[in-house]
Amino acid sequence: MQPIPDHLIIAIDGHSSCGKSTFARAIAKRLNYRYIDSGAMYRAVTLFSIQNHLFKGENPDREKLLRLLPKINISFEYNPNRQENEIVLNGEFVENAIREPEVARKVSIISKIPEVRSRMVEIQRNLGEKGGIVMDGRDIGTVVFPNADIKIFLTASPEIRAQRRFKELKEKGIEMGFNEVLENILERDRIDSTRSVSPLRKAPDAILLDNSNMTVEQQMEWFEQFLHERFGG
Ligand code: C5P
Repeated sequence: MQPIPDHLIIAIDGHSSCGKSTFARAIAKRLNYRYIDSGAMYRAVTLFSIQNHLFKGENPDREKLLRLLPKINISFEYNPNRQENEIVLNGEFVENAIREPEVARKVSIISKIPEVRSRMVEIQRNLGEKGGIVMDGRDIGTVVFPNADIKIFLTASPEIRAQRRFKELKEKGIEMGFNEVLENILERDRIDSTRSVSPLRKAPDAILLDNSNMTVEQQMEWFEQFLHERFGG
């Protein structure tokens, strides 16, 4: 195989909880690229909104949020405790806090707001400027990097996604019933796919991968095969 260039942009989009971040992380490791979890950024804005009491019932106080938006600083930094790059919100590592069920329930409402999206997209484009990056999300191949070198659209059946998510939450000690997990996934899919700004959609030039019956190792075998086809060998 020819050497794989070190400046590619790889976009991994897909439904909620279908293992995008695990796959994207593994690809980044394989290529020695940087991994960016764009969903974590929308979760961080949601966490900020909760912490600052911006929610009135289901919906955030939009005006207040937009006023505070310039004060929300999001970056990815190396966390020596976990030996990984992690999301930082206004100077604090918040990887655990953004995975709480309350954030999961509210994030799709926050990510519908156009001004929030444009701010996040700006940060994402800056992070990807030099390439050598794997970014996962919902609109990476369609909006953030429409010219990405490799685009993969990942999916799996809702029940399998709920099983995986249920197991993951349990391992983290977060209590949530299976039906609630499944409903949250279906609801996020619904909101993410029907919103007017940057809805979740497969880019026409993205490769569809259904990983319902695949382990992470099998997905990486698939990816190696893909690299062989793309870069010869
Ligand atoms: O990827 P994850 O499930 O952590 O993303 C959480 C939420 O963030 C999604 O349900 C979606 O509402 C939003 N999101 C988005 N665009 C992205 C990534 C995530 O709207 N690029």
